[in-house]
Amino acid sequence: MPSPRIYLPGSTIGVMGGGQLGRMFAIAARRMGYRVHTFSPDEDTPTGQLADREVAARYDDAEAVRDFARGIDVLTFEFENVPTQTVEWAAEFCEVRPSANVLHICQHRLREKQFLAGAGLPLPRFMPVNSAAELADALTHLGVPAVLKTAAFGYDGKGQRKIERREDPAKVWEEFGGGHAVLEQFVEFEKEVSVIVARGADGQMAAYPVCENLHRNHILDVTVVPAGIDAEVDVQARVLAGEVAEKLGLVGLLAVEMFLLKDGALLINELAPRPHNSGHFSFDASITSQFEQQLRAVCGLPLGSTESLRPAAMVNLLGDLWAKGEPNWAAAAAMPRVKIHLYGKAEPRPGRKMGHLVAFGSSAEEAMHHALDARAALIKAGAPAAKRRAPAKTAR
Ligand code: AMP
Repeated sequence: MPSPRIYLPGSTIGVMGGGQLGRMFAIAARRMGYRVHTFSPDEDTPTGQLADREVAARYDDAEAVRDFARGIDVLTFEFENVPTQTVEWAAEFCEVRPSANVLHICQHRLREKQFLAGAGLPLPRFMPVNSAAELADALTHLGVPAVLKTAAFGYDGKGQRKIERREDPAKVWEEFGGGHAVLEQFVEFEKEVSVIVARGADGQMAAYPVCENLHRNHILDVTVVPAGIDAEVDVQARVLAGEVAEKLGLVGLLAVEMFLLKDGALLINELAPRPHNSGHFSFDASITSQFEQQLRAVCGLPLGSTESLRPAAMVNLLGDLWAKGEPNWAAAAAMPRVKIHLYGKAEPRPGRKMGHLVAFGSSAEEAMHHALDARAALIKAGAPAAKRRAPAKTAR
């Protein structure tokens, strides 16, 4: 087998998607002397603001996709819900990492679960559901509580409904809006954790320390690293993430979200074949950030060290923080152990990820307190509402 191609600094990396994950990737890539082009349906995107070139076109515009691919060396993703056809058009002209097959699996909840189950990896019990009758049957098999999730395009708890007790399946199905779904047992987890692992084209792998994640309204709220878990579980979680990456044949970065049960068992909840919100701490707190690692993996460079420099915590800044005007950035900037990240989004809608803070401490707990204090300070002594630019048309 010929050795995988290496793309050295000076090469041009294409990013599908225009959100904050691509923005931080672009920062890492440009720092190492690469050029970055981005493709998404929007203009003035968080990624586009930092890219050498921003193309605003639809993912089903074959000519725009081909033209974009002609101008780059390697294509990668900050958003996995790109049609397979789009990836295939691009692959006519450039290297695509991770592959269309990996995206195809990870962009569809049912395919992802079937892949994991087929590979013998641990996950909550689930059944496909395509009708009220199938929902009734699945509820009989899995019992309640259970969670009904759309099979495709779900993220941050969108398209999910918990079924608490015996409810009328026909009514639930109608309210849910029908379509293709998955019913999953509700897991009484002890903690939610995630592992980010990179895999190169030559099979080398590197996993980050396990992150502990706290959600609010199904959206990630706080991540602390290291997670407060036994050393044995830490190793198991990292090994498990590596197994997933290997069985997928991944080249790139993979986030594996898991439920940790009381008895120490781990169940895989979700995969994302790209940088992940729970890995943002690494931008400030690791030798190699998840974004630089994605770059190294897709370019065929040796992977960087995933060692943490200090215990850290990340808190998300959602649009809700802007409810009473511009947050008081000076208050957070005055805190010596806090880093501010903002994504350049003009319109702070409730629930929209606008930025995050990373704080350091001598322990993960101390770091979390600093991060939460900093976020509280943003709204405590609110600065006078500043004039905002006209809203950009970014989707996320
Ligand atoms: P997801 O979009 O599937 O990652 O779900 C978002 C959040 O909903 C998860 O991070 C959990 O907090 C919760 N959740 C999802 N599925 C389950 C489940 N089967 N059991 C318990 N909680 C769940």
